[in-house]
Amino acid sequence: MKTKIVLKDADIPRVWYNIIADLKNPPEPVLHPGTKQPVTPDDLLPLFPMPLIEQEVSQERWIPIPEEVLDIYSLWRPTPMYRARRLEEALNTKSRIYYKYEGVSPAGSHKPNTSIPQAFYNKQAGRKRIATETGAGQWGSALSLGAAFFGLEATVYMVKVSYHQKPYRRILMETWGASVIPSPSDRTQAGKKILQEDPDSLGSLGIAISEAVEDAATREDTSYALGSVLNHVLLHQTVIGLECKKQMEEVGDYPDVVIGCCGGGSNLAGIAFPFLYDVFSGGKEVRVVAVEPAACPTLTKGVYTYDFGDTAQLTPLVKMYTLGHDFVPSGIHAGGLRYHGDAPLVSQLYNEGFIEAQAYHQTEVFKSAVLFARTEGILPAPESSHAVHSAIVEAKRADEEGREKTILFNLSGHGFFDLAAYDDYLSGKLVDYEYPEEKIREALERLPKVE
Ligand SMILES: *Cc1c(COP(=O)(O)O)cnc(C)c1O
Repeated sequence: MKTKIVLKDADIPRVWYNIIADLKNPPEPVLHPGTKQPVTPDDLLPLFPMPLIEQEVSQERWIPIPEEVLDIYSLWRPTPMYRARRLEEALNTKSRIYYKYEGVSPAGSHKPNTSIPQAFYNKQAGRKRIATETGAGQWGSALSLGAAFFGLEATVYMVKVSYHQKPYRRILMETWGASVIPSPSDRTQAGKKILQEDPDSLGSLGIAISEAVEDAATREDTSYALGSVLNHVLLHQTVIGLECKKQMEEVGDYPDVVIGCCGGGSNLAGIAFPFLYDVFSGGKEVRVVAVEPAACPTLTKGVYTYDFGDTAQLTPLVKMYTLGHDFVPSGIHAGGLRYHGDAPLVSQLYNEGFIEAQAYHQTEVFKSAVLFARTEGILPAPESSHAVHSAIVEAKRADEEGREKTILFNLSGHGFFDLAAYDDYLSGKLVDYEYPEEKIREALERLPKVE
């Protein structure tokens, strides 16, 4: 039996899967932050080009991938899927563990699956410049890559603490031609306001989003781009799961459980939605598991309600699981999982019982990541390590129950830029944070009133 399951170039998916076509209940409308009425496409035009707005609300099940995007995808897609044989041996499990590896993209994660089409549609719509935010730098680097391929200017507001502590992603972004600005900055009203209140603010993703949205909204030639959460982002990521289904066919297997780490929900949706299609169209039973950090437990401890996507309350209101738009999680190493909300589509499917959620502390997660690196060779990103850990927990549980499971997880990226985190773990300096009950309770009191 094969260990590495590769597809031929010709097997690259030519369409994305839009799960909205198969939902039992229509998605809740997105609301204008001022009027609290449903937004119209025209409300969103200052931020996004029309083709992306159309994808955001499309009811079509299959959406063609443009040739220009396919051509760039082909630089690293189809990505490999592996059977984790040495990990299985180390665990002495009867279950089969497979993982899809998205770390082979030039930016080292799944994020270029959406940054490339986003840059393409912006170029096509005549925009010259894209503004965005980044936490640890993964989304910022993916967008800088997309902008470089299509000749667009990229301005990236990077959370200040990461800008100073994690220079390598910044250097990667600048190498691809982007301007990187530590946030909060004095370039925007939102940034100035935060700096007036707290000149030493270390920033947060919510603040950086406010700055990027304001930048885009106030300049004609500039769009805003988001690396997760929105429907069109999740749509673009479905190339992952569509490939996986072919790879599973190739080995004559089918997953009982599909696992992804969950920050905003895009890599989870990317691997899982095409399998949920099999559930919706009948005949298959698949468990889908979202894995989040115990320090930012959006699905497991948040509430399902309308909230802002950013701290300054500039973004539209979306119905999602949230910890409150001004909740700032502890400084765990999985920077990409430190977001207060979750994708509306993932939130709805979790609420309807099609997705489960688990939360883990970072030391147990790193222990699993190191076992994975020593058996499979690949060094997982701290975010992806949450999925690694969950797969190991699932295999152990199946053995205890005397069952044999097929487990598939998304290895969303590599951890070459996160070696300081591994150093902390290996030298015993990594700490777990208590569940921030008080902070979450306070942030939830400041939720906007809608109904
Ligand atoms: C950004 C990122 C995540 C978290 O984002 P999702 O939208 O939840 O996928 C996970 N893994 C990696 C490697 C990332 O870069």
